[in-house]
Amino acid sequence: MTAANHPMAWADQGACVGMDTSLFYIESSEQIAPEVEAACHRCPVFVDCHTWALRHEAFGYWAGTSERQRRRLRRALPTPPPRPPQPRRPDGAVDIRALCAQLDAEANVGAGKPRKP
Ligand code: SF4
Repeated sequence: MTAANHPMAWADQGACVGMDTSLFYIESSEQIAPEVEAACHRCPVFVDCHTWALRHEAFGYWAGTSERQRRRLRRALPTPPPRPPQPRRPDGAVDIRALCAQLDAEANVGAGKPRKP
């Protein structure tokens, strides 16, 4: 798998690349920084980020949405987007390799697999 066909390859073009990540992970009582909102509003991969976040991200500020806003959106959708169960190692930790393979399979971009036309 190359970086170009990674399920989150779009993130490399995000307007937030290079910004302080901690600005996107704040307490619920805090106000999101104006520069973060501005980045999302002008972001060329907003739709990709929003789609990803709605399906996969429980925490943080993604594509102009807070954790609470995404929870509301998920509830409002007629059919909630599927969220793959996280594979676990025997010790209970998330199996990152298996999770990446799962996401690759979901995106049909795994190494050696043909891409959908
Ligand atoms: S929409 Fe916002 S959080 Fe998502 S990649 Fe763009 S700037 Fe980053």
